[in-house]
Amino acid sequence: MNIVILGPPGVGKGTYAGFLSKKYNIPKISVGDLFRTAIKDRTELGKKIKDYVSSGDLVPDEIVIELVKNRLEEDDCKRGFLLDGYPRTVPQAEAMMKFKKIDVALNFVAPDEVIMERIGGRRTCRKCGAIYHIKNVPPTIDGVCDRCTGRLVQRSDEKPEVIKNRLVVYREKTKPVGDYLRKKGLLVDIDANYPIEEIDKIISQCEKHLKKLT
Ligand SMILES: [Zn+2]
Repeated sequence: MNIVILGPPGVGKGTYAGFLSKKYNIPKISVGDLFRTAIKDRTELGKKIKDYVSSGDLVPDEIVIELVKNRLEEDDCKRGFLLDGYPRTVPQAEAMMKFKKIDVALNFVAPDEVIMERIGGRRTCRKCGAIYHIKNVPPTIDGVCDRCTGRLVQRSDEKPEVIKNRLVVYREKTKPVGDYLRKKGLLVDIDANYPIEEIDKIISQCEKHLKKLT
């Protein structure tokens, strides 16, 4: 089962992919992680990626494509995979069609207000990095970490105006890829507008679509 995961930042892609990865026993591959590992291991591709990232430029398609292609050729992907963070552009999607078949693209959707509340409510401990949510996972004492009594702060990229901008950029950038996959009949919308306690409602929608593939 070759599955592509799409959805805006904060929609919970990583969590859903984690569930599905365990359930179907296929690896969850995040392109962000591939970047970080390649940079850390100082591979040829990693050195190039580092140059782009540190100058604030987008990593060009041909580099991303090569990195992902190499990873998907590894043994653990033979039975399938969940790919998060790729394709981001139409050329990346077209390239993938040539080296790996995509069975389905799960497109997780939730209203902007819901995402804003999910990310905007996060608070991170300055000392130990523990993550809380003012509504869903509140600390015992306001603004204080339960584990280490460190101070809880809102990360700068989780402030409302920044999240709003990240969502706008996401929609502009990924719309063409979504349209492309939809035209190919591969895109399936998954309603992710449920609180975390009802995550099974999100997962069961995925399972319903994945069942058709097996
Ligand atoms: Zn702490």
